[in-house]
Amino acid sequence: MTGEHRFPCETCGADMRFDPARGELTCDHCGAHESIETGGAAQPRELNYAQAVRDGLGQDLAGAASETEELRVSECPNCGAKIQFDETNHATECPYCATPVVTGTGTVRQIKPQGVLPFSLTEQTAQEAMSAWLGRLWFAPNALKQYARKGRRLNGVYMPYWTYDAHTESDYSGERGTDYYVTVKVNGKTRRRRQTRWRRVSGHVRRAFDDVLVLASNALPVKYTRALEPWDLAGLEPYVPDYLAGYAAEAYTVALEDGFEHAQERMNAVITRDVKFDIGGDRQRIHDLRTQYSQVTYKHILLPVWFAAYKFRGKTYRFVVNGRTGQVQGERPYSAWKIAFAVIAGLIVAGAIGYGIALTEQGSY
Ligand SMILES: [Zn+2]
Ligand SMILES: [Zn+2]
Repeated sequence: MTGEHRFPCETCGADMRFDPARGELTCDHCGAHESIETGGAAQPRELNYAQAVRDGLGQDLAGAASETEELRVSECPNCGAKIQFDETNHATECPYCATPVVTGTGTVRQIKPQGVLPFSLTEQTAQEAMSAWLGRLWFAPNALKQYARKGRRLNGVYMPYWTYDAHTESDYSGERGTDYYVTVKVNGKTRRRRQTRWRRVSGHVRRAFDDVLVLASNALPVKYTRALEPWDLAGLEPYVPDYLAGYAAEAYTVALEDGFEHAQERMNAVITRDVKFDIGGDRQRIHDLRTQYSQVTYKHILLPVWFAAYKFRGKTYRFVVNGRTGQVQGERPYSAWKIAFAVIAGLIVAGAIGYGIALTEQGSY
């Protein structure tokens, strides 16, 4: 079994796909639909991180059969994404960079997803969100807007993420700065000048982190996916392959431990803020900060993203749409002509104002 999940329609035998509008499996051939059974679990399970590291789940997955699954993937020769294509959509291009890929060439054994946030936006709704977003960009070339409106296909991809929970205890030492003002004489004039009195401090802060999100893919620049946040993780469903029917899914390429390092960076930003608040005063210096992480748990989850890659005048432009909220992010081409026109229009307006001022000044003579 290599992760080939097929859902034949009970009525006609055609392949069903997950329909975001209904939240069910739907048969495009005969219109039948079928609800999804998640096995009664209410929430995706948090897993013990220390245990996973001890078991070597981050590297060697042989022998850990119950927590892992084998996926049939195709590796993109350009961006390195390992994509699990759905049998029914017959895709032959990488959804991220539109590079042709040979499908079904390899397998990977990976930690099973604990949760999936199902698509709730249909392809059409995502397309409308993208067109509206492009429409608001007055500097985008008209030809591109028209191209986008023609209803090019979007690719629905479940992207791999890690989430981490942790309890942190941090000891710090540093300095608290208190401002005061002195009056000084500069060239015979009196000036108030700010000075800071520094006092050594040390202390302790703690925090409980919940679901710190880390993208587990290297295929796409983080600037795209960060812009899709926030995700409504409260809507996570326990993982069942039914949600993937009709979509591509990317296998993670960031290992569990590397993901935790990214998560610690995100946590550390919050802890630093906590420490500065704890130090108080007008200014803060942190000389030493040591954090202990305990009760670390993790989940591997899949989040829904609609992708469009356009080739426009020889260049590739990429757009991503959050498959839940419709939030759009992308590379926007600028129309040189429109910008040049705006600059000229601006000069004309400035010129007219200048001319008007000149006239009024003349009139007052
Ligand atoms: Zn059917
Ligand atoms: Zn690619």
